[in-house]
Amino acid sequence: MTDAQLEKYKVKPGSKVNLHKIDANEYKQYSGTKEIALEEMRSLNMRLDELQKTQHGEKSRKILIVFQGMDASGKDGAIRNVFHSVNPSGVYVAHFGAPSRMELSHDFLWRIHQKAPANGEMVIFNRSHYEDILIVRVQNLMPKKVWERRFHHIVDFERMLFDEGTHIYKFYLHISNEEQRRRLQERVNNPDKHWKIDPNDFKDREMWDKYIESYNDVLNRTSRQWAPWYIIPANKKWYRDLIISNILVKELTKLKMKYPKPKMDYSGIIVK
Ligand code: ADP
Repeated sequence: MTDAQLEKYKVKPGSKVNLHKIDANEYKQYSGTKEIALEEMRSLNMRLDELQKTQHGEKSRKILIVFQGMDASGKDGAIRNVFHSVNPSGVYVAHFGAPSRMELSHDFLWRIHQKAPANGEMVIFNRSHYEDILIVRVQNLMPKKVWERRFHHIVDFERMLFDEGTHIYKFYLHISNEEQRRRLQERVNNPDKHWKIDPNDFKDREMWDKYIESYNDVLNRTSRQWAPWYIIPANKKWYRDLIISNILVKELTKLKMKYPKPKMDYSGIIVK
């Protein structure tokens, strides 16, 4: 995919996106087949492995990749498919569920900051600090004046991470309301998937429109050049993975990462 094709998924800072108008079924316009996409995925997986290896060796940058999306939007699956070839020793996934009492007794970024990447690390957030202006807002867990000011806190926090050497990429997995219904129903129909069901998913689903409205605000107010949001059409899993992998490979290649210089010239040395 060309840079121009990928650029359209990025939320330009200051732009006005409206999720109601974005097609979660975009794969229907894809000119290739699923088989071609899977073939391309294999080579993207290898490229990502190379990039991560270099980043790990270079040890001077931090990479943070954020995944957000409605229930059943495919966050777990995307993480598994996009990163399955990378070396697990340099990559960590942090999953943020409902905060504990201890976490709630701190500021909302306390638990997040602890999981942010160090030099040479790639960290994937499965849900994130954005829950503190999404579910908190939709479920009225805090008054408006609390979650409203968090937009600034988050933008400033991400800017600080960037200034300190963190490259940030944020993916919103966009599924349609009907696709969510279908996926939740599939879980209900398959007893092997019952462990995945949280009764709250059904309650949350009733709040779909409020979630979309909150996501629209998040995407419009917190996308920055140094920490952009990407909206990924995610009704088809293979298409979702293909776009995310293409974006990551393109962006990480731009960083021109290099292995550190050897401490001396080792050529010609015979190891005894
Ligand atoms: P999954 O991500 O697979 O749905 P869980 O079953 O652990 O995993 O669900 C996480 C739940 O925790 C979600 O409903 C999410 O909205 C909620 N959650 C995450 N962060 C917060 C937060 N800061 N405040 C309240 N709820 C949160």
